[in-house]
Amino acid sequence: MSTLKQRIRLLREDAAAMKLDAAIVTSLPNVRYLCGFTGSNGILLVTARQATLFTDPRYTIQARTETAGSGVRVSIAKGSLEVALPPRLAKMSRIGFENSRVPYRTWEHLHRTLPLGATLQPLNAVIEERRMVKSDEEIAAIRASVNVNSQAFAAALTRFRAGMTETDFAAEIEYQMRLLGAEKPAFETIVAFRANSALPHARPGGARIDGNGLLLVDMGTFRGGYASDMTRCVHLGKAGAKTRNLYKAVLESQLAGVNAVAPGKLAGDVDKAARDVLRKHGLDKAFIHSTGHGLGLEIHEAPRLGRGDGTFLRPGMAITIEPGAYMEGTGGVRIEDTVLVTPTGVEILTPTTKELVIL
Ligand code: ZN
Ligand code: ZN
Repeated sequence: MSTLKQRIRLLREDAAAMKLDAAIVTSLPNVRYLCGFTGSNGILLVTARQATLFTDPRYTIQARTETAGSGVRVSIAKGSLEVALPPRLAKMSRIGFENSRVPYRTWEHLHRTLPLGATLQPLNAVIEERRMVKSDEEIAAIRASVNVNSQAFAAALTRFRAGMTETDFAAEIEYQMRLLGAEKPAFETIVAFRANSALPHARPGGARIDGNGLLLVDMGTFRGGYASDMTRCVHLGKAGAKTRNLYKAVLESQLAGVNAVAPGKLAGDVDKAARDVLRKHGLDKAFIHSTGHGLGLEIHEAPRLGRGDGTFLRPGMAITIEPGAYMEGTGGVRIEDTVLVTPTGVEILTPTTKELVIL
């Protein structure tokens, strides 16, 4: 059975367990996961007997090509896709929808046009939960994405010149990603110099990267549809003792987080391992986000490695480990790897060194 057929079969099993007659999949990453379609407009309807992808005439050829082998029928709708659904829902009573993803407008339309007696039921995160554990093909894709990302970082560093702005360097990084085979950045590349590095989601700006200071780069690519994510800090000129100590503490925390990863451990335990190290260094208040996240067809996926998260880690999960410590007005350090939960523990996929590189 093809991978896509298998995924649709599992969704049918989940839907049957929830006593649903049909599942309406509207989020594009889930549509892609289930039937291979990568277009920007598509709804997948899965019933006990059939799976139908609704899309518009722009995607007639692409939808048929991409869904070949998935067992999914393609139906070309003219106008808005949700209008095509109700006639297919006749005689059904419990219809699952993606309650955390469906736009209100779509929900309202479905609700209004449902067959008499039918109800919309939350699918919750059944598809996202299946997506947490990656297949061998998906792991290979993530590995390739991680490698391209690290190569792009190395290539961009060789082209770094003092006096470049943050924006210049972000553009160089993204240019290298494309040259090396990435489809696009997985998110807006973060290049943050000196005090800007204290903003975990800093947007690169006109600040010149020159003189002495800490430079934080958080970057990721999509390659073969799969995401990678890495944060590294480099230092322009010699780093002072304060910065070196901050860096050492975050690195120790990151390594503790990585070492806490193993099948059967809780996501929250990994967060605790990283957080405890920063607390020991008096930096727990400077660590203002969770330790990591799953990634795959999306840059942020389940599980979330946050405080008290009760998700059990399982072999095949691809996650990030990225503790950080941020000092307002001074700067911040974050170190992030993409790692894989293996049957025996953990494999760090990111090959880039975690030594504080001096430029
Ligand atoms: Zn991340
Ligand atoms: Zn990142």
